[in-house]
Amino acid sequence: MTHKGYVRRRQSHQVRVDSVSIGGGAQVSVQSMTNTDTRDVESTLRQISELVAAGAHLVRVAVPDAEASRTLEQIVRHSPVPVIADIHFDHRLALMAISAGAAKIRINPGNFRSEHLDELVRAASEAGIPMRIGVNAGSLPGETVRELGVTADAMVQTAIRYIEMVQSSGFDQIVLSAKASDVPLTVEANEELARLTAYPIHLGITEAGTGRRAEIKSAVGIGHLLGRGIGDTIRVSLTGDPVREVEVARAILATWGLAPSGVNLVSCPTCGRCRVDMETIASEVGRRLKDVEGDLTVAVMGCEVNGPGEARHADVGLACGQGTGVVMRGGEIKRKVDEKDMVDELMREVHRHLQENPPEKCKDM
Ligand code: SF4
Repeated sequence: MTHKGYVRRRQSHQVRVDSVSIGGGAQVSVQSMTNTDTRDVESTLRQISELVAAGAHLVRVAVPDAEASRTLEQIVRHSPVPVIADIHFDHRLALMAISAGAAKIRINPGNFRSEHLDELVRAASEAGIPMRIGVNAGSLPGETVRELGVTADAMVQTAIRYIEMVQSSGFDQIVLSAKASDVPLTVEANEELARLTAYPIHLGITEAGTGRRAEIKSAVGIGHLLGRGIGDTIRVSLTGDPVREVEVARAILATWGLAPSGVNLVSCPTCGRCRVDMETIASEVGRRLKDVEGDLTVAVMGCEVNGPGEARHADVGLACGQGTGVVMRGGEIKRKVDEKDMVDELMREVHRHLQENPPEKCKDM
C-alpha cells in the first residue's frame, strides 16, 4: 500500500524553464545531463531522445567552448524538452548559450568577475530565462574553506553570497543547488538552504559514483530531502549511461508518490514456510510485468500465513500454498491455481485489471 500525497512540499517560488515549471507546487521535474560531445549535434540529440523516452523533463548539456555554444542552437531547436546550458568560467560562453536559446543556464557565480556576472544576469533577464546557482562542496571558494572547512555551513554561506550577488542586479529567477558526494553533508546544506530561502531547489548527490552504491547514495540523499518536502527538480548523477540516471530519479519520485509509480511488484523475501519455488515465480512475474504499462501494484507472496493479507492489499495478488496458490484481485479471491499455472493466471488477472482500469493518459508534465 502507498500513501499517495504524503509529502508536504515546501512552498517555493516558481520559475519557468520554457514549458516546464520548477517550484511553486509544480510537479518535481527530472533532469539529466548528456555525456556526448555537445559539438556533435546528432549524437547529443539522439541521447536527449533516449533521456526523454526514459522520462526526463529537462536535459542539461555542457558548453565547454565556442563551438559547443554554436551547435547548441541546433540542439535547442530540435530537442523535445527544454535544454539547460552548463557553463563554467567563461561568461562569453554563457552569453552565447543564452543567444542560442538555452532555456536556463547553470553557473557558479564565484567563477565570474562581478562585471561579467552583471552582464550575464542582464542577458538572462532580457531572455526571460532562469539561472541555477550551483554550489558544489568540491569547488567552494578557498577563503571559505579555510575559515569553515568543507561543511554545510560553508556551502550555505557560499550559496547565500551568490544569491546576493545575482539579486543585486534585480534578478530573482533563481534555482539553487548545493551538492556534495557526501550524503549527510548534502542533506544538511539543503535543509538549511530550504529554511533560509524560498527559491526552488535542484537536488542531487554529485559524483555519486557507479553502480548500485551510487544509486543507493542518491536514493537515500535525494529521497530523504524529498520526503521532507524539499526539492523541486532532481538529477541523479551516475558515472555511465545517463538513461539510468533518469530511471533511478523516477523511481525515487515514485517511491514518495511524487510521480506515477508504474507497475510496482511486491514480493516476499521467502522463509522456511514457503513451499513453492518463489524466486523463479517472482522473477518470471517481474520479467513479464516489464512490458506492462499502467499504475498498479502486484503482490507475489510465498505462503498462507502473511501472503493473503498482502495480496489482498495489492491490485492483483498471488498467495502461494503447498504447490498451489490463490489469485486475488481487488481484495477478492478469484481462483485457486496449481503452481505450474500460477504466473499465467496472475498475468491474466493483471490484464483483466488493466482492461477494467485503463491507464490514465499521461498527466506527467
Ligand atoms: S509471506 Fe510467508 S513465505 Fe513469504 S516471508 Fe512471509 S511468512 Fe515467509
